[in-house]
Amino acid sequence: MRLVLLGPPGSGKGTQAARLKVELGVPHISTGDMLRAAVAAGTPTGLMAKAVMDAGKLVSDDILLAMLEERLSQDDVKNGFILDGYPRNLAQADALDHLLAKIGQPLDAVVKLDVPNEAIIARCEIRFAAEHRKDDDPVVVRDRLKVYAEQTAPVADFFERRGKLQVVNGVGELDEVTARVKRALADESAAANG
Ligand code: ADP
Repeated sequence: MRLVLLGPPGSGKGTQAARLKVELGVPHISTGDMLRAAVAAGTPTGLMAKAVMDAGKLVSDDILLAMLEERLSQDDVKNGFILDGYPRNLAQADALDHLLAKIGQPLDAVVKLDVPNEAIIARCEIRFAAEHRKDDDPVVVRDRLKVYAEQTAPVADFFERRGKLQVVNGVGELDEVTARVKRALADESAAANG
């Protein structure tokens, strides 16, 4: 299963991906986690990315594509993956398309977690208090929601036009949301198998 999880910051992509990877038996690839690891390790990518991430802006497409290309060339993705945090703009959606075509691994499904802005703001406040991620500061969260609306929302339309997008309600108990995503994936594969 090759799956992209879309959704605004704090919509639960990471939480749901961590659960789904166990059920689907494929790795969870989070570009946010990869970038935070690079920052923590002080790599050249991390040094370039830190200020951009703290401000809630997008790290450059070139850096992301190089990172992703490297990750998708590893052995553990040959049975699929759950991609979380990428693509975040139309250029990235296009780049992903080309990359997956090149390695002969087209996407099976794109699931968007739908969560209203008020709920996002509340969730990020809780995460900020617990984890102190600079980009969860309420002021930065508002900027991230703006980046999402302007740059990432069109990515959902891109997949919708191709008949690939499933929208799932991301509000509710964790188990309930996981069950909704699994139902969406089952519907998708039933439709694909005609
Ligand atoms: P969340 O899921 O809460 O939105 P992430 O952990 O996915 O947060 O991402 C944190 C930050 O990492 C983003 O705000 C951005 O600065 C950077 N980032 C992650 N993925 C990408 C990407 N595909 N393109 C550009 N920047 C990215």
